[in-house]
Amino acid sequence: MPKNSTPTQEKKSVTGDKKKILAFRPGEIVPLFGMQVPLVVNEKLRSRERALLTKSCIQIHLEPSKNANDAKRKIQNHTEKLLKKLLNEVLPHRLKKYSEISGFQFKTYRIKKMKSRWGSCSSLGNLNFNIGLALVPIQILDYIVVHELCHIKEANHSSRFWKEVELLMPNYRQAKHWLRENELDILSYFYGWQGKALTKL
Ligand SMILES: [Zn+2]
Repeated sequence: MPKNSTPTQEKKSVTGDKKKILAFRPGEIVPLFGMQVPLVVNEKLRSRERALLTKSCIQIHLEPSKNANDAKRKIQNHTEKLLKKLLNEVLPHRLKKYSEISGFQFKTYRIKKMKSRWGSCSSLGNLNFNIGLALVPIQILDYIVVHELCHIKEANHSSRFWKEVELLMPNYRQAKHWLRENELDILSYFYGWQGKALTKL
């Protein structure tokens, strides 16, 4: 988002069209791994409440809600649960690929809802990844994976660190730029406008 613009009802979306503030709500197009996937809510008596990914949409099954806030909270929770599950299916493959290429071995990884970080790497080689990575294109997810794996070798952002990143991903600067441009959009799905734009890695 440009520095001088203020959050209003209208803003530019990830895809560049003008639309309302981004949130998980009926009819919203969600950028699942960079694909445009509509979110559909089915309210029905005696539903098993859950979110599913079908061939054409993210489908939320709910009991009829008491009020709009109740429905909003449930849609948020179920969607987040689904995104975490989907990211858990994708992430191990990306980690394996870049861990094999680089030779950098991580111990464990976890997916978390985080306000100010896309990922982190502990001194023991434990990695954390932001749930919001389910809403970025795979090449952006790959950049975060590469970035955190390189911290296993270099626990800082020195020129040696960036050389390691560049070896694994020569065009990593494009991914950094994409994140700067889009991270507020991604965070707004999880935090509304509470999210700060300065996500660290
Ligand atoms: Zn970093």
